Amino acid sequence: MEFKLVEIFKSLQGEGRNTGRQCVFVRFAGCNLSCVWCDTAAEARFAASLESLVDEISSFSCRNVILTGGEPTIVQGMDRLVAELKKRGFWIAVETNGTRSIDDAPWLAFVDYIACSPKIEYESSVRIAVAGEVRVVASAPPEQTAAFCRRMRARISAGDYYVSPCERAGEIDFAGAKAALALLPDWSLSVQLHKILGFR
Ligand code: SF4
Repeated sequence: MEFKLVEIFKSLQGEGRNTGRQCVFVRFAGCNLSCVWCDTAAEARFAASLESLVDEISSFSCRNVILTGGEPTIVQGMDRLVAELKKRGFWIAVETNGTRSIDDAPWLAFVDYIACSPKIEYESSVRIAVAGEVRVVASAPPEQTAAFCRRMRARISAGDYYVSPCERAGEIDFAGAKAALALLPDWSLSVQLHKILGFR
């Protein structure tokens, strides 16, 4: 079994409920969506066996790990990776676009936290029903973003619901997120602090 990866690094979580938590970020290659405003490199830069990936993650002085992408729920072998990391005592979070349910990816039931970011442009592909948090990028006009958020709230049971500003060509659209939030009194703002403060 080989995992195709973009990067592994330690940093601070920059968004959502776990903002500020020190974590090892494992970015898997490949995504099943093609958001036009995607800011994430998803091309594989290297491959690693299960054993070498677990060793690499364990080499950081940190026992929190965020499995991200790309889209980690489409990666083969995640059940074994999650089991190995659990054996070593890791707190495990996953960042997903919500297009795979726990039935599709049963290992999701064994992670500690699911941050789901369903995409307005791919609403018909959303399958997840439970998450720790839902984060919607305000990539559409405010009324359209707010309507999507309400539908996602009805479909996905989560502890927290956030709207994030959309970034296009280096410009972060805070005004668009604020306008959507004005229509969503029980949603909160989540900014990508790592971009604003300039950490990775
Ligand atoms: S789901 Fe995320 S990684 Fe995939 S294309 Fe959209 S923004 Fe990029």
